[in-house]
Amino acid sequence: MQVKLTPQSEIDSNQHLAVVIQDIQQAQNYCTNEQAWQYVQSQVDEKNKQRSQVIHLNQYTHHTIFVYQPQSSKPAYYTAEALRKAGHTIWGIVSKEKLSQLQIASLESTQALEVTEGLLLSSYQFLKYKKEPVPHTLQQLSIISSAIEASQIEELENIVAGTFAARDLVNEPFVYLTAPQLSEEIKKLGLEAGFGVEVFDKEQIIAHNMEGVLTVNKGSVDPPTFNILTHKPDNAVNEQPYILVGKGVVYDTGGLSLKPTGKSMDFMKADMGGAAAVVGSIYTLAKNNVPLYVIGLIPATDNRPGLNAITPGDVITYANGKSVEIMNTDAEGRLILADALIYARQFNPMLVLDFATLTGSAVRALGNEALVMMGTAERSTKNQLIESSEATYERMVEFPLWEEYGEPLKSDIADINNLGTAEAQAIIAGKFLEHFVEENYPWIHMDIAGTAFLHKPQTYKGKNGTGSGVRLMYHFLTSFAK
Ligand SMILES: [Zn+2]
Repeated sequence: MQVKLTPQSEIDSNQHLAVVIQDIQQAQNYCTNEQAWQYVQSQVDEKNKQRSQVIHLNQYTHHTIFVYQPQSSKPAYYTAEALRKAGHTIWGIVSKEKLSQLQIASLESTQALEVTEGLLLSSYQFLKYKKEPVPHTLQQLSIISSAIEASQIEELENIVAGTFAARDLVNEPFVYLTAPQLSEEIKKLGLEAGFGVEVFDKEQIIAHNMEGVLTVNKGSVDPPTFNILTHKPDNAVNEQPYILVGKGVVYDTGGLSLKPTGKSMDFMKADMGGAAAVVGSIYTLAKNNVPLYVIGLIPATDNRPGLNAITPGDVITYANGKSVEIMNTDAEGRLILADALIYARQFNPMLVLDFATLTGSAVRALGNEALVMMGTAERSTKNQLIESSEATYERMVEFPLWEEYGEPLKSDIADINNLGTAEAQAIIAGKFLEHFVEENYPWIHMDIAGTAFLHKPQTYKGKNGTGSGVRLMYHFLTSFAK
């Protein structure tokens, strides 16, 4: 259930409250008696007074939760993340105490926003397939701060909704979320948020020579789709669009290069995490009426070893004339992304950013803590993206696209092959995509294989689908709308 957020002008001292304080002394104002104040003082971890702490006080008629956030000399984004994590801790208290409402206050600062963000993101549940679902009890959060505008609260609510939309898509099993059903879900979200959706069916995909999508789909029973999402408000500040491309492999068996089941094929419903990032980002931009022209391109199919499946050793030729020798049918994400990167050209984009759960190599390099980024865009654009990644704590590390990394993509009989070597595979996958970008537009590739899906819970990101990329893209793209 999505929690309702409302601005409130003053604290109601008889209701549950979470309040951000910079100094422990400030807590005294919220204690109903001396005993309570002594309890709060006893709970302070004196050794760690430089770090944020959450102190829970049960005052019998109501709960008071203190978020002690001392001034810090570290960059602002550290504090923002500490506050989100405090929000996650508060979520633990809200769940345990089964609260239905809570006030969140940071009287003169905007810090209540980050606490609320962490709390809301923690409240996500995916209950669709439970016979007896147990939804959480929280219904309403009231935000109290003279520094926060009502519009910022609404904006946050929409960012969380966009992240949840992405999580839902990732968490949906393949038995439901085939490529045509993914298109139906995108249409529903388009109607809800107000962005346009055009879906190419298999005939149209054939007509557009989208060879990668057709190739990967050859072993499937369900047809592929190619989805074009458009957010183009009348007051858009840009004429050339920003384009987001997302890998929509709704299920990846590996094809004839079959994956093992354990810790591999068993969570491959998540191989459309890139598509989810694109849908969630455009949903959030549209819901918040951001005056920016943005297009989303999502090639979608499952990858199966059916009777007519593509075989290792086959050669295909793309609409841009490039031929590819398929050395491994499990390197399919790059094959379908290539069609979208070719298709993006006609829009003369300002910048193309692609999201894909592309390589295990990205996971081995950075684990779940950061995504892998690389691309041909200008240094200043990348720096701006890295700033957004710090602000949202969707951190990233840039990998190089040095020409030497393209060597393993050589083929004896085609222009390139789709595999290369296991060493530096995350980069080689990027080098493969670069063949379809050529010099047509500035481009950034983000490999979210490590961040899109979690096997263990990780604070407010939760477990399973995380919505990786949505908060990042919203922060990054809105900076161009100002
Ligand atoms: Zn694969």
